[in-house]
Order: sequence, then structure tokens, then C-alpha cells
Amino acid sequence: MLYQLDSKEDAARYSEIAIQLMDSYGLPATPDFYRLFYDYVSERDPVVVARLRDVADETPDRFRAAAEAVLTDHYGMERDTQILTATGEAMQDQIRNVVRNVQAAGSDVGAFGNALNGLESGLGVIGDEGRVKSIATQMLVATQQMKTRSEKLEQDLKQSANEISNLQEKLAESRREALTDALTGLSNRAGFDKSLMQHTATAREKKTPLSLVICDIDHFKKFNDTYGHQLGDQVLRLVGSVLSQGLKGRDVPCRYGGEEFALILPETDIKAAARVADLIRQDIAAKRIVRKRTGEEISQVTMSFGVAHFKPDEAPAALIKRADEALYRSKENGRNQVTMEENTEPRLAVAI
Ligand code: GH3
Ligand code: MG
Ligand code: MG
Repeated sequence: MLYQLDSKEDAARYSEIAIQLMDSYGLPATPDFYRLFYDYVSERDPVVVARLRDVADETPDRFRAAAEAVLTDHYGMERDTQILTATGEAMQDQIRNVVRNVQAAGSDVGAFGNALNGLESGLGVIGDEGRVKSIATQMLVATQQMKTRSEKLEQDLKQSANEISNLQEKLAESRREALTDALTGLSNRAGFDKSLMQHTATAREKKTPLSLVICDIDHFKKFNDTYGHQLGDQVLRLVGSVLSQGLKGRDVPCRYGGEEFALILPETDIKAAARVADLIRQDIAAKRIVRKRTGEEISQVTMSFGVAHFKPDEAPAALIKRADEALYRSKENGRNQVTMEENTEPRLAVAI
């Protein structure tokens, strides 16, 4: 990611606060932590701001764990994917060049062979026929061998280019995997951060609406405690598939954290987003969880939702915060409902 340079005064100020903060959380001022805190203090990286703000009031130990997690999955992935993609592309360019050169060399050699062919027939009419002809024939044979060799080389290089392009596909695949939650197949937190950054940037640029829904399974701890983690995981998968089926087009369903999900809804105003959320809410509440082994039917699962609308001058973190606050109100007001930001009415979706 490229940033604009801060002024000397700003940089000195950010740097001082960053170092003080690291110290207050008992973190060593290593280059990695320094960059993280600089990005946080200067608010240049909204993902870092959002993730650290979430845990700012936690104990130093928890804060430290969260900071380390951001280092690994945010910067780590950014660095790895940049390096890997750049390497792959550079290698492929290189090979393409070589193939082009060898092809050119091959056709040069072909032209050379043709010329020699002509020379051979021309030589027939001049004096020492046998000698000249045999030289010409030898040259022709040598040239043809050369051509065969370069054709083989060309083939080998083409194969290498194919292999590199396969490698690149695998890289893209592992990059996709890094952004995907294995249990539900939805975007994971890193994928969410990336998508939200992209979609807020587009909404800002094109002046289009964008809504964010954050939702959380109700009393899921109790569900796990009663029915076990395995069935809990089955519920998470079910929620994942209801979310995917309930959305379409550019909408991005994500597993935001353990039993929390987020829906990024581009080109959607808040009322439409609340309607989508309410349909999903009803869908989930209507499902019956069945214990596969015994066929036993288990009580329903419900979810609470918070909906917020993006303001073009705000950082994605602010949008997340408002959706979260709305979700919190859904919980407070009795769960299994949708709440829009800055609205205290419970079960708003019903009133839409
Ligand atoms: P609330 O209605 O207020 O959201 O209550 P809750 O019990 O859902 O919330 P709480 O945050 O107390 O508990 C969340 C639970 O979600 C605890 C944890 O066991 C469960 N959970 C989180 N991730 C997973 C997971 O990957 N698999 C399973 N089975 N459970 C998970
Ligand atoms: Mg919950
Ligand atoms: Mg939760």
C-alpha cells in the first residue's frame, strides 16, 4: 500500500505518540510494532485503526495479542502476496522474453538455411563443383541441426512458461484461501477488511450508497454448551449458506469473527439493507437444526442485526462502529431483530 508522506512535524508527533503507546502496552519498539503503531496513530490505515480500536480498552496482554495478530494477518499477508505476485509476474515476463528471442533466432536460422539452399544450387554452375557443393551441403546440415536445437529450446521454454503460469494460478488460489473462512466458505476477517476498503473507496469515488450489516447469533454460547461444538459448527455453516443465498451480485457476506457475520452491501441504501437483513433474519429463524446422527430436531437459532450507512468522509472503522452499536441495541431490545443506526426503535425492520 502506498501512502502520502506526512510532514516532518506530523511525523515527529505521530512517532512520539506511537512510541509512548507501545511503551504503555509493554510492547518492544521493534520495526514491525513501530509501523503498526505509526499507522494506528496517524490513522493512515483504516484496517489497523479499526482492529486496534476494538481492543484499545482491553488488558495489555489482550491488546498485545491483538496487535500481534494484526501484524501477522494484515501486514504479513500484504507483504507475502505482494512479493509472491510480483515474483510470479516478473518470472513470466522473463520467460516470455526468452521465448520471443528464441522464436526470432529460429526464424533467422530458417532464413539462413534458405539462403544456403539457394547458394548450393547456384554453386553448381561454377568450376570446382564437387568441393563447393560438399561445403554447402555441410553448412546446410549444420544449419538444420541448429534449427532443430533451437526448436527444442523453444519448446522447453514454452513449457516453462506454462509451468510458471500454473504456479501463478496456484498463488492466486492460495491468496483466495487466505481470505476465505474454511468453515463457511465466506470471506474471513481479512477478506472483509479488504472488501470493505475497496467498496468504501468506490462508494466515495462514485458517490454511490453503501450499507453495512453486522449480525451475531443469539445466545450461541448456550447453544454450544447445550448441544456441543460440532452442532455449533453446523449452525455456523447453515448461517453461512443462508447469508450467501440471501445476497446477490456485488454483496459480500463475511464471517467477521466467531459467531459474528458482516454483509457489505454496495449500492444499497440503509432501508433496503435493513429489508435484506430482515429477510435473512426470518430465514434463519425458520430453519430447524437437526442432529444428523439421530434425526432429533433441535430448537431454532436466531440472529440479531445492526445496519449502518456509509458516509463518504468517514473511515471504514467508523461505519463498522455504528453498525456494531446498532447490533448492540438489537441485543438489548430482546434479540432476533434488525436495528438501523441512530434509531432506538426495536424491530425496525417490521416498520419499514
Ligand atoms: P449474544 O446473544 O449476546 O450474542 O450471546 P452469545 O452467547 O452468542 O455471545 P457470547 O459472545 O457470550 O458467546 C459467543 C459464543 O460463540 C462462544 C463461543 O463458544 C461461540 N463460538 C465462537 N466461534 C465458534 C466456532 O467457530 N464454533 C462454535 N461451535 N462456536 C463458536
Ligand atoms: Mg452471539
Ligand atoms: Mg458475538
